[in-house]
Amino acid sequence: MPTLTFLGAAGTVTGSKHLLDLGRHRVLVDCGLFQGLKELRERNWRPLPLAATSVDALILTHAHLDHCGYLPRLVAQGFRGRVFCTPGTRDLCSLVLPDSANLQEEQARDANKHEYSKHHPALPLYTEADAARALTLLQPVGYNRPIPIVPGVEVEFIDAGHLLGSAYARVRLDEGGTILFGGDLGRYGRPILHDPSPVERADVLLVESTYGNRNHKNLAQTIDEFAYALNDTLASRRGNVVIPAFAVGRTQDMLYFIVELARQGRLGPMDVYVDSPMASAATRITLAHPELYDRGTARLAEWLKRGKGGPRVRFTEDVEDSMKINSVRSGAVILSASGMCDGGRIKHHLRFNLSRPECAIVFVGFQAAGTLGRRIVDGAKRVRLFGEEVAVRAKVFTIGGLSAHADQAALVGWLKGFRAAPRQTWVVHGEPLSANALRDEIEQRLGWRVAVPDPRQSVEL
Ligand SMILES: [Zn+2]
Repeated sequence: MPTLTFLGAAGTVTGSKHLLDLGRHRVLVDCGLFQGLKELRERNWRPLPLAATSVDALILTHAHLDHCGYLPRLVAQGFRGRVFCTPGTRDLCSLVLPDSANLQEEQARDANKHEYSKHHPALPLYTEADAARALTLLQPVGYNRPIPIVPGVEVEFIDAGHLLGSAYARVRLDEGGTILFGGDLGRYGRPILHDPSPVERADVLLVESTYGNRNHKNLAQTIDEFAYALNDTLASRRGNVVIPAFAVGRTQDMLYFIVELARQGRLGPMDVYVDSPMASAATRITLAHPELYDRGTARLAEWLKRGKGGPRVRFTEDVEDSMKINSVRSGAVILSASGMCDGGRIKHHLRFNLSRPECAIVFVGFQAAGTLGRRIVDGAKRVRLFGEEVAVRAKVFTIGGLSAHADQAALVGWLKGFRAAPRQTWVVHGEPLSANALRDEIEQRLGWRVAVPDPRQSVEL
């Protein structure tokens, strides 16, 4: 009897890892890092209940680290099977996995230097060499093309509309039955990406629940707020706008909104700077996949290629270019990473703009507890940057409603597209409140058999 074990994203939003054990073969679906609070991050160090060498093949639904960031660790432990994913996921993994390895190595170096780890010496979870080896295992497969991955099992990727290359993985077993691993479900009517694809049937379904208990503000209202923040700062107060944004996904969304607003005549003149090497690379990858994006994005591509149809945009590559932005006093929109202000070039831009009342910091993504971004959003009057106290005098805007995840209404709407109830639905990838709320909705509104798994729970299929 095949079994399914929830090795991550059970009762929490990160660490996605679902093990399909078919007796003779083992397939792991997603291989994500636990992220966020320390208690979660420490789980990355806990041994898996199986040998990495006993996994025959791996499937990745998308390139967010909470779905793919543990892969180099698995490789460090001896995994040598093939990793099936879409071409978009492969391209983004080639950015995010080495970057993540670099961060792991940096943290270990820091811990050794300042001796704050209880381990001597502190080791990285994995190295850049592990990440490089992981990339050689990636096996890209296009959407809607079922292919065999181990004897008796095939996988088909279906566009999930959540991130470039994101997919649900439909796994078919020769002995009968399909399991739909939902990955993360995207939003409808969002820029750049296609809408999530409908699915009509599956015997067993795993559905995410990041926003299982909430609904987003509507997108038009969100874009209005963004336009106001830009105009208020650039035209009325004559300062700069600093936007901390994740390099992959959110930065491209913001560029898209800027070009659309400009096209509608709703913005004055401005210079846009994308100051993050990873954001520049992610933008290049996005534009290299016209088959994955919608018509509005073709306009964005045109703007970036020819500089027509929108404000001037510059992608800075080296540190010197980046430092030149420091002397710009007004009229600049600076998109930089990290998205939560904890590292990267964004900290320099905050240092030069945070204490100027004519400037604005525009937050467009989630700010986790304990991050610099969160302290600013929560109204700190002063923050520490590079060992210096900096007063927060810039105007702070928090633009909600830009999440890449479907909200409760969209999740239930997507489930309603099923022609028949799956034999069993598992609600994963959500904090307990969200996961339980979505389970209750599914039970009450659809009458399906549904449950929230416990961490490391195994079930028969
Ligand atoms: Zn995701």
